[in-house]
Amino acid sequence: MLIGCPREIKPQEFRVGLTPMAAAEAIAHGHSVVVEAGAGSGSGFDDDQYLDAGAAVADTAEEVFATADLIVKVKEPQPAERARLRDGQILFTYLHLAPDPDQAADLLASGATCIAYETVTDVAGGLPLLAPMSEVAGRLAPQVGAWTLQKANGGRGVLLGGVPGVGPGRVVVIGGGVVGTNAARVAAGMGADVTVLDRSLPRLRYLDDTFGALFRTRYANAGNMAELIPMADLVIGAVLIPGAAAPKLMTRDDLATMKPGAAIVDVAIDQGGCFETSRATTHDDPIYDVDGIMHYCVANMPGAVARTSTLALSNATLPYLLALADKGWRRACSDDSHLLNGLNVHASKVIHPAVAEALGMES
Ligand code: NAD
Repeated sequence: MLIGCPREIKPQEFRVGLTPMAAAEAIAHGHSVVVEAGAGSGSGFDDDQYLDAGAAVADTAEEVFATADLIVKVKEPQPAERARLRDGQILFTYLHLAPDPDQAADLLASGATCIAYETVTDVAGGLPLLAPMSEVAGRLAPQVGAWTLQKANGGRGVLLGGVPGVGPGRVVVIGGGVVGTNAARVAAGMGADVTVLDRSLPRLRYLDDTFGALFRTRYANAGNMAELIPMADLVIGAVLIPGAAAPKLMTRDDLATMKPGAAIVDVAIDQGGCFETSRATTHDDPIYDVDGIMHYCVANMPGAVARTSTLALSNATLPYLLALADKGWRRACSDDSHLLNGLNVHASKVIHPAVAEALGMES
């Protein structure tokens, strides 16, 4: 099969769908690979590395889309890319189709078979192609939170780790899933005093069993929030209710209970944010002030560390990519019901029931 990887064209996207190492593996499986010139540059991979891996480098995206049997990407196809998809072609990428009827209409019109990273599942009930990006965003959250707390950024000038003779900063993480666990680990590793709130007791038990005294856990209820938020230097929002907008866990009035210059990092901003005062920001202008509390609300945090994110994503997607290329999508999906859950669009129909329902279509 000819696997094609175009350069990402969504603004601020520096990741790439296929690393040179992944290209080499696909070629070792007997496939051919064509990559658009410059596709890997945002992640630190130059064209020569793809050529050395045995891939071809095409001058234009048109060439990649026109020739490849399977297109592998990162972000949902933009309108210009959707216009290039062909009948019978396989598209393997993040789609986030449910809230995007324009994209859905274009994918249906294309006749392509579209498999979305975000709906592929695993035996544990997790989302294995979303988890790496949650790991990245979670580990990044204390780093950007620490930066936000610096005086020059409007923060209260607290060093999270403290120094000998001066106590550490206090970090409250709301939501102890993939993002929250990674955030808590890194914040504790920086020397901060960390508490994780979750409303799932099994999850709190897991965190307690796994991490012991590294950080504390508390049940996420209004009383515990009201006690912990005023003491926090940094609050990290990391909740998720699958398929729903993030619940608003702090109001604007709650900000008045916080220390002036305290920081909020709302990782859940891509689901609407879990604080009333959150609004999505970009890497170019990531923080803003509401009532003296500094907010960091970047919706695509992994983009800040594109190289790590590309490598982490590729580690997770490669086995599925190889299965699709080796067996063809039909047999790959019939052999693996978890990969089948990734099938969103085929033969001009939305196949995934929840996505179809969200779009008001029959699956
Ligand atoms: P997850 O499902 O692994 O964890 C979510 C946790 O939130 C669960 O443990 C759940 O019990 C808990 N939770 C739900 N409602 C709660 C509440 N009211 N109070 C306390 N805890 C509650 O999800 P995840 O992978 O950790 O993702 C968390 C959020 O981060 C999601 O909104 C995800 O979309 C977002 N995210 C954002 C970025 C970004 O760049 N901004 C990147 C990756 C993930």
